[in-house]
Amino acid sequence: MNLQHYIGGEHVPSVSGATFTALEPATNEEYLTVSAGQAEDIEAAVAAARKAFTEGPWPKMPAQQRAGVLRKIADAIEKRDDEIASLECRDTGLPITQARGQAHRAAQNFRFFADVITTLGEDVYRVASAQLNYVIRKPIGVAGLITPWNTPFMLETWKLAPALAAGCPVILKPAEWSPLSASLLPAIMEEAGVPAGVFNIVHGIGEEAGAALVAHPDVPIISFTGETTTGQIIMRNAADNLKTLSMELGGKSPLIVFDDADLDRALDAAVFGVFSLNGERCTASSRVLVQDTVYEEFVQRFAERASRVKVGAPDDPATELGALVHPEHYARVMEYVQIGIDEGARLVAGGSRPDSLPVGNFLSATVFADVSPKMRIFQEEIFGPVVCVTPFSTEEEALELANDTRYGLAAYLWTNNLRRTHRLAQQIESGMLWVNSQNVRDLRTPFGGVKASGLGREGGKHSIDVYTESHIVHVATEDLPISRFGVS
Ligand code: NAD
Repeated sequence: MNLQHYIGGEHVPSVSGATFTALEPATNEEYLTVSAGQAEDIEAAVAAARKAFTEGPWPKMPAQQRAGVLRKIADAIEKRDDEIASLECRDTGLPITQARGQAHRAAQNFRFFADVITTLGEDVYRVASAQLNYVIRKPIGVAGLITPWNTPFMLETWKLAPALAAGCPVILKPAEWSPLSASLLPAIMEEAGVPAGVFNIVHGIGEEAGAALVAHPDVPIISFTGETTTGQIIMRNAADNLKTLSMELGGKSPLIVFDDADLDRALDAAVFGVFSLNGERCTASSRVLVQDTVYEEFVQRFAERASRVKVGAPDDPATELGALVHPEHYARVMEYVQIGIDEGARLVAGGSRPDSLPVGNFLSATVFADVSPKMRIFQEEIFGPVVCVTPFSTEEEALELANDTRYGLAAYLWTNNLRRTHRLAQQIESGMLWVNSQNVRDLRTPFGGVKASGLGREGGKHSIDVYTESHIVHVATEDLPISRFGVS
């Protein structure tokens, strides 16, 4: 199979003819050749998108009409539910049952932002009787969308839906390790009636295609999801052109269990929170902090459940944990397992490839207990099915451990103490906190992180803020006094 760029409504190879190959995570065999975009391909995509912005109907289209197109995109995605799930499963190694949910969520993203733009008002400020000030929201321009390899289709639509809803033409740069499901988007957009040039894809290596998109002066916004270190590079490279940046970065999210919690549900949430989506999940609960009074029992039950998590072929409906995305990533995760052992953490489950799966990027669900905050496995994002469990005795100590990392994306709190809940909710350093709940999200709520986990928020009207400029118009309704210079 051969994937090309999609620019101005046409499937095109790279100007240079360059390509790269993608591997299937379950076998590590090459199965896809992909055009490798470089500066000249980005240039062509920006020209097409810029034309759609300045001359095309999309940015000026009435919100109702644009929303109609977005709803058709959602229908076209839903129609391809099985196809999206099977491509995603093959390309990323996600278990098929978990890949299925992604297509549904992707369609929801478009329906939701169709509703947002048709119900969105613009602010008016009356200044006594002398002035009327009103805000016009304008699409910011060509939006550069750079996405990671985990749950790629869903995360691409998480950016595409609000950018298109706001009236911005887009250039999507999918992750090079999982470019396959994005190849369905051109047909979806055409079927829904998105005008040529509004939706563009340039595939390629981050340091080439991604960097060229970030550096381009006619792309005023970059919405990026990926690693914190990449986000830092992008910020530096975007500085020359002073771009709007939306940054959704890494995480090392704590799940805190007090002894008054419903321990059965806390255990279910802890197991699901770190082993679902192969543990390759930005909001994974990868640090589990447990009160010492129930610690040993919790560790033992956690280890027992982890050892029964079914690791297997991604396309087998019985599989709970599939293949990690790429051999390079697999090697990195395995290195962390070794680091944990060397640092003296207690390995109570997993830690190696299941005997039944000799090839492909498979790792059993891995649990380290007695992890101290000084250890690298406590501090660094592993982004795989590896969890650290750490004991605490007091609420103060739980808070200190929860905040003792550079990241601050999500946190999960399990307690039935109401006052403690609200005390901790105000002090935990994270963009999002779930209390007695797994990670369930309403699309209206702000999504994003603090500290090294990101900058800005997307979700609901926050996303529209990212892709629009607020233009304020001050109109005098009375003669306001004007100081008269140069009259004496
Ligand atoms: P990554 O940073 O390696 O790559 C992300 C994207 O950036 C890819 O498309 C890549 O090609 C591109 N890229 C790389 N270098 C670039 C450069 N110099 N200029 C422009 N683009 C460049 O991340 P990844 O490994 O694909 O994804 C995993 C990471 O994403 C994890 O850290 C995870 O926590 C994070 N993530 C965060 C969220 C969130 O919402 N906060 C969601 C999902 C994933």
